[in-house]
Amino acid sequence: MGYDPQGVRFVLTAPETESTEQGFSPWKQMVYASVPARFAPRFLYKKHLNPESYPDGTAKVVPLGLRIVEDVLREHYPAEDVVVCHPSNLRQFVGPRTRAVGVAAHNPIGVAFSTGVYSNIFGSTAVPINAYESERIYTHPALRKYRPKVIVGGAGAWQIEKTNSFDRLGVDCTIVGRAEGVVLDLFRKADAGEELPRVVRPPEPRLDQLRVPARRATYGVVEMTRGCGRQCAFCSPTLETRVSLDQDALVEAVRANVREGGRCIFPVSEDIFIYGARQPFYIPNADAILSFYEAVASVPGVDFVPLSHATIAPALVNPHLIQEMSKLLLRFSVLKNPASTHPDKQFLSPLIGIETGSARLAAQTMSGKALPFDIRDWQDIVVEGIQILNRNNWFPVCTFIVGLPGETEDDVRQSLDLLHRLRHNKILYVPSIFTPLEDTRMAHGRGLKPRELTKLQWEFILTAWRQSLDFSVVRKRSNLAWKLGMYGFYYARGRWLHGPQFKYPALRFAGADEKKISPHLYLKWDGSNGTRDIPPKPPRLIAKHQGVAVEELAKLPSNGAAALRVLQ
Ligand code: SF4
Repeated sequence: MGYDPQGVRFVLTAPETESTEQGFSPWKQMVYASVPARFAPRFLYKKHLNPESYPDGTAKVVPLGLRIVEDVLREHYPAEDVVVCHPSNLRQFVGPRTRAVGVAAHNPIGVAFSTGVYSNIFGSTAVPINAYESERIYTHPALRKYRPKVIVGGAGAWQIEKTNSFDRLGVDCTIVGRAEGVVLDLFRKADAGEELPRVVRPPEPRLDQLRVPARRATYGVVEMTRGCGRQCAFCSPTLETRVSLDQDALVEAVRANVREGGRCIFPVSEDIFIYGARQPFYIPNADAILSFYEAVASVPGVDFVPLSHATIAPALVNPHLIQEMSKLLLRFSVLKNPASTHPDKQFLSPLIGIETGSARLAAQTMSGKALPFDIRDWQDIVVEGIQILNRNNWFPVCTFIVGLPGETEDDVRQSLDLLHRLRHNKILYVPSIFTPLEDTRMAHGRGLKPRELTKLQWEFILTAWRQSLDFSVVRKRSNLAWKLGMYGFYYARGRWLHGPQFKYPALRFAGADEKKISPHLYLKWDGSNGTRDIPPKPPRLIAKHQGVAVEELAKLPSNGAAALRVLQ
C-alpha cells in the first residue's frame, strides 16, 4: 500500500501502553495506570511495550476501538486515506494533507478509578505512565506542526472534558460513549475543515451499527457482550442494552486476529456469564457459554484465552459450569501460581467486582449483583462463590470500592471482616477509591482524595494489598522487596503525604511485628481476636424475581449443589 508522503487524510493512533500485549495478560496493562511516570523512566519500560508494525509503518496491533473506527472509515474512504499507526510512526503519516487524527484514550489524564489509589498514593500530582504516554501523542511535533483536527474517543475520553484539557492538549473533539454511530460524520466534518463540537455524547449505537472488525486488536479483544443489567448505582456499562454478539461473527474475528499474527484472544464482557442469556438473565446459559469458548479455543493458532469480567453469584448457581470452563480453558491460560492444582500450575483470573463487605451498603448500591440470591447474604455469597472458584483454579482479581457515597466506618469494618474471611483464599485484590461516573445514579457523589481517607479505609486498602502480595508474589526476595519498599516509602514520603492515619496500615503491608501494630488496627493479625473461621451460610434465593419462579433453577441440567441446597 502506497501512502502519500504529504500525509494521510485520516490517521488513527493509540498510546503504546494500550497497544502492548505484554505478557499476554491484559491485567498486566493495569500496571501502566498505577505506576507514576516520574518513578519509571521511559527506557525502563519501553522495551516491554514492543509496538509491532508492518514494514510500511502501519500498526499490526492496536486497541479494538481504533479497529472499529478504521472499519467505519474504510467503508467510505479509499484504503490509502486511512492509516492506523503507533505514535512512533506519526511523523511518517501526519503531514499537510492530514485532516484528522483519531486518538484512543483509556486513561489520558490519569484520573481513572484505579489511578485514584495506585498512582495518587505517591502524591496528587503523580501522573501514571499511560497518561504520560497519551500526552506524548497530543504534544507530538507532527501534530503541533500540521494542526490536523484531533478527535479523541475511548473509555477515558471523559477525562479530557472533566479536566478541561482541550486547549492544553490541542484536542478538538472528544467522543464520550460508543463512537460507531457518529464517528463518520465527525471525520467528514474535519475533512471539510468545519468546526467540531468539543464534546459529543452519542446515543447508544443501534444493533445494526455494532461492528466486529476482522482485524487484529490488542490481546485479540473481541466483544462477546455489551451491557449488563444488574444495575449497580456506580456503573456506566449497565446503562447500555444487554446484547450478546453472534458466535459465528466473533469466531470470524478470532480467525482474523490469528491471520495477522495474534496468539491471544480475549473475549470481553461486563459479565461473561450473561453470554447468550435468556430470561432471567442472571441464570447462566451454560450451553451458550461453553459453546462460545470452545469455538474460540479451537481456532488453530489461538494459544491464550484470558477471562474477562464476571459476577460471583453464577458460581453458586451453577458450579458445574465453572468446572467445565476450567477443563476447557485452563490450558489456554498464561497465568501460573504454585497454588494451582493444575499439573502445569495454570490458573484463570476473571475480574470480579465485590466492592464492599457491607450488606447494608451493597443493598443500597448494587442489590442486583447478588441475583438470584438476596443481597442481605452478600458476604456468604462472596465467600462460598470464591471457594467454588478457587477449587476450580480460578484465582480472581477482585475489586473493592472504598469511599462509596454513604459509606460509614461500620461499613468499612464489615469489608475488613470479609477480607479476613477470605484470607486463606487465592485472590488478587484491587481496591480503588470511588469515582463518580457520568450518567450513573451516583454521578453526583464525591470521590475522596487519598489524603481524606480514614485510618480504617487505609487499613482496608493496605491489608488487601498485603493479602494479595502474600498470595501472588511467591518469590521470597521479591515479596520482601515490596515490603521494604513500603517501609522506605512510608518514612521518606507517605507519612507526610497521607498523614498519621496511614502509619499502621502501611506498617502492616511492610510486614512489621503484628504484636506491636495490631493494637492500633481493627483486624488483629496477632490472634488476639477476629481470627475465627466463619463458614458461609447458604444464601437465600429471592423467592420470585420479575415473575420468574426460582424453581426454574432446579431445571438447569448442570445445576450445582449450592443452588439445590437453598431450594430445599
Ligand atoms: S455487575 Fe458489574 S457491569 Fe453489571 S452493573 Fe454491576 S458493576 Fe456494572
